[in-house]
Amino acid sequence: MARAKQKEFTKEILVNRAGNRCSNPEYLAPTSGAAGKSFLNVGEVAHIYVVSEGGPRFDSTLSEDYVRSLDNGIWLCKICHAKVDNKRTDEYPAELLMEWKIKGS
Ligand SMILES: [Zn+2]
Repeated sequence: MARAKQKEFTKEILVNRAGNRCSNPEYLAPTSGAAGKSFLNVGEVAHIYVVSEGGPRFDSTLSEDYVRSLDNGIWLCKICHAKVDNKRTDEYPAELLMEWKIKGS
């Protein structure tokens, strides 16, 4: 599957498994809602283990295919995505995000 198609597929599965809510159990906020006659999406696919070296939760033993896979994705709102990817904190280890993912989907 081409990467763009895979990304779209991963997003669709994660957003629907999470019930279109942020997977952070402290928030569980809806990630889309009405905006005029259309809708606004504030949800994003976050990587539990990140792709880039130097990023939070980077693990050099994992393959790029795994890191980009459905298993390594979690559905979060933009605020929680920014929080967990903040390089200045280690408050959000991969184990915690895995727990959120299991509870949230
Ligand atoms: Zn959130």
